Amino acid sequence: DKMTGGAGREEKILVLVRLRPLNDKEVSKNEVADWECINDSTILYRNSLQERSGLPTVYSFGDCPSKQVYEEGTKEIALSVVSGINSSIFAYGQTSSGKTYTMNAITEYTVADIYDYMQRHEERAFALKFSAMEIYNENVRDLLSSDNTPLRLMDDPETIESSAREFIGKGNSSTLSASVFFIDLAGSERAAQAMSAGTRLKEGCHINRSLLTLGNVIRKLSMALMDFFLPACHSDTPKGRQGHINYRDSKLTRILQPCLGGNARTTIICTLSPARSHVEQSRNTLLFASCAK
Ligand code: ADP
Ligand code: MG
Repeated sequence: DKMTGGAGREEKILVLVRLRPLNDKEVSKNEVADWECINDSTILYRNSLQERSGLPTVYSFGDCPSKQVYEEGTKEIALSVVSGINSSIFAYGQTSSGKTYTMNAITEYTVADIYDYMQRHEERAFALKFSAMEIYNENVRDLLSSDNTPLRLMDDPETIESSAREFIGKGNSSTLSASVFFIDLAGSERAAQAMSAGTRLKEGCHINRSLLTLGNVIRKLSMALMDFFLPACHSDTPKGRQGHINYRDSKLTRILQPCLGGNARTTIICTLSPARSHVEQSRNTLLFASCAK
């Protein structure tokens, strides 16, 4: 009596790019859209003043419903949790590029499909656990609690388990347990900006630490990651860069540890704004995407 619905993709890390349309605020400011998704693997930069071709990506989504991004991009990996496979889905991109918009929809569709799966498998007993938390300045806060006290991470991984959005399937003869994480990362531009603005230096360093450690972990896992996760960190030589994976370097990677490495599947959705005023950040994000895959 095996559960079905596992992820069939070979890649351990799947990189998707989503280019949103101009939003109302940008339209009212007469913003121009310079980027265009011309097919499912190419995003093109079209600026008559500065002709430049786009970087090829693996899976690109232009103006399309979130349901399509979910169905074609993340569903298979997210639902592999019912087969006992851990996974994590990240949104990476500058502020306002659509990370939250995308992650909220994907989380909702995944949960709906998990419920649907449980209903169709009455022969098994299920336990489903959720949690939502925010990591800010290396403090972890429970978003489902009214108590603002930072959570302390225990060394015991079970603590970590209860803080994950989690799905557990229980059978007569076998018990499967797995987690799927949905991660809405800090705006990719923030660390770079904060690095140069004294007052926000501490915040920037903390954001850097999370993103950098995560970058290092992913890099080592994929054995083919780019030289940076954030441009501002370029000259840093973090402890964990060579040698073994140092999950303990940041709260983010400590929490995500069960879902990185081993059999776990990772999807990174890189979100892009088409606006001309965001061209540099969009270029960085595409560079990240093309190196991460
Ligand atoms: P981020 O979390 O990266 O800062 P948001 O998800 O808050 O960005 O998106 C910024 C704005 O753009 C919001 O008003 C959001 O509704 C809109 N938006 C983002 N992605 C899309 C999309 N794919 N289609 C339409 N509107 C979008
Ligand atoms: Mg957001």
